[in-house]
Amino acid sequence: MKYFLAILGGGPAGYTAAEKASKAGKDVVLFEQNSLGGTCLNVGCIPTKTLLYSAKQYYNSTHADKYGIKAENVTFDYVKIFQRKQKVVRKLVAGIRAKLNNEHCAVVAGVASVISRTDEKVVIECNGEQYEAENLLICTGSTNFVPPIPGIQDNPHIWDSTDALAAQELPKSIVIVGGGVIGMEFATLYHELGVPVTVIEAMPTILPNLDQEVVAILRDKYQKEGINILTDTKVTQIEQGKVITTNGDCEADKILISVGRRPNMQGVEVLSDLAYNKGIVVDDFMKTNLNNVYAAGDVTGKIMLAHVASRQAEVAVGRMLKQIPLQRINYNAIPSVVYTNPEIASVGLTEAQTDCYIHRLPMTFSGRFVAENEGETGLCKMLIDKKTQTIVGVHMIGNPCSEFVAAASFAVRMGYTVPEFQQVVFPHPTVSEILKEVL
Ligand code: NAD
Repeated sequence: MKYFLAILGGGPAGYTAAEKASKAGKDVVLFEQNSLGGTCLNVGCIPTKTLLYSAKQYYNSTHADKYGIKAENVTFDYVKIFQRKQKVVRKLVAGIRAKLNNEHCAVVAGVASVISRTDEKVVIECNGEQYEAENLLICTGSTNFVPPIPGIQDNPHIWDSTDALAAQELPKSIVIVGGGVIGMEFATLYHELGVPVTVIEAMPTILPNLDQEVVAILRDKYQKEGINILTDTKVTQIEQGKVITTNGDCEADKILISVGRRPNMQGVEVLSDLAYNKGIVVDDFMKTNLNNVYAAGDVTGKIMLAHVASRQAEVAVGRMLKQIPLQRINYNAIPSVVYTNPEIASVGLTEAQTDCYIHRLPMTFSGRFVAENEGETGLCKMLIDKKTQTIVGVHMIGNPCSEFVAAASFAVRMGYTVPEFQQVVFPHPTVSEILKEVL
């Protein structure tokens, strides 16, 4: 049998593509060596958010006094927290399996490798069997990057994010190398559960790619609460649990390395002509330089976010199916969230990237925010392009901005002007009203 599409990798890109193509009546084969759902579902977004939710419940209980609640001797059971995380992951993996359970979609468990390719067909081998397909979608994801720091290899104190999620016990203390998204989310988890945390970041600021006014609010709160944040600091050596830096030494039970991820090219080594530049090079339709070979998700090295991967997969399959009108990938309105406490959410351009008017307002201009966020101020910034008068960026800190950043994404994606956006009605009282209030 010749499939229409062979997919390497069952993460958000892979399962989205399989679902879309098989729903269109095309025969698809998807190969996954681990659990369906990829990094996001098994060792990324979902398990971290589940653990962070437990941590937030505990933190809120121990800070409940400000809401008139007396909660004394509150404790937690990390094994139970861990087991719940496992249960959530199992449930969602089963959901993906159910989605792909249709007559046009074959899911093959095993390590797959492309063994040959022509413009007419791609041949893949898995578990000793060969599969032929007209098109190939590579969505093999990414792996944690291990920097060349002396003392990192074969050191039992070193964790990556996968090790941290697999541990059934909390570390007694932790040094986190890399104050990016993974680093700050784990800093939140451990800090809220009472573990002493040090964050080491090479750049002058944590979360260097985000709006710095927003980041400053988070940093200020975390430092006041006792998280030790060392910026402009490079790790020169690690000796067991001791981290030697350009800014003094520190010691911890565990050292989490979170300095970025790299595309995973396992299984496509035979495609020696495939263009690669910090990721597989693709056009606006996710096609590579090889006819009938597409790529989506982290392996493209673009924006390593699950929702970007899913959208890229939709675009790739649309192109293979020659759907009219053909959709392109548009990176201008990709929302992103950092699940710290408070959350940070943003979409579109930063003020460094555009000539714009900036509207800014503390979140306390929202009644619901004041009711539910005692002692917090938050911030909402909206960027308006000076030439077009359209909304080009929104940057927020304050709970639960992750839940309404999609409204801001919509405005940026549609190129709304301020008068257009002002016609949108927001429910009252919700924190989302800040998006209108800020104008
Ligand atoms: P990242 O690029 O977000 O952050 C890595 C950080 O490490 C950067 O701030 C960088 O300056 C710093 N760094 C690099 N080398 C260093 C060194 N030797 N010493 C100290 N600091 C160093 O990468 P990440 O946090 O590892 O995350 C990987 C990917 O996963 C990212 O693309 C991220 O967006 C994605 N992710 C997203 C979410 C989310 O959407 N909520 C959550 C987790 C991960």
